[in-house]
Amino acid sequence: MRFQRCLLQCVMVMASMLGSITVSLAQTVTHIGMLEPDTVSRMWSFIKDKTQAPADLPVPPIVVDESLPKNVRLMFEFPSQLSPETEMRIRLNPRNLMAWNNGMWHWAVGHEMTHYAFLLRENGWQEKTWYDNQLKHHCDYEFMTITQKLAELLWEIYESSEDRLHMYIEANKSCRHQPNQ
Ligand SMILES: [Zn+2]
Repeated sequence: MRFQRCLLQCVMVMASMLGSITVSLAQTVTHIGMLEPDTVSRMWSFIKDKTQAPADLPVPPIVVDESLPKNVRLMFEFPSQLSPETEMRIRLNPRNLMAWNNGMWHWAVGHEMTHYAFLLRENGWQEKTWYDNQLKHHCDYEFMTITQKLAELLWEIYESSEDRLHMYIEANKSCRHQPNQ
């Protein structure tokens, strides 16, 4: 069993469920037709700027993973002391594509990329075999501010006030329901 961060709920996933289909971001876009590289890059630049990340830090690996439990839309996982074999990546569940529109999916990916930036910053932006994760993110003022600003950034692109409200609600839900993540 291993512990992972995810947007919608905290899950313990059996190692046997962890087989995955790994594709590059460009392939992901073709494969599932929902992530726009320009929008992902724009969010990533914003997150890097706000977290004082190295400017050349690449977007974390984003993979489509049909083995994710149906109730998990996406999650961020990383090698920890307890599970150093876990890959650093964001996993998207293709079975849940219809549940959200493009704006919401981008925001959710932005949320997971913010976890990634916070984790790397906590570890001095160094590449490691496993990463320390003492800090809690979801109720952190800076984390909430960045993910709410991502809602504003996506509002400029999609111009949906309804989605923007939904993003704020999800940000608050993360804090309320998963304060330890
Ligand atoms: Zn989260």
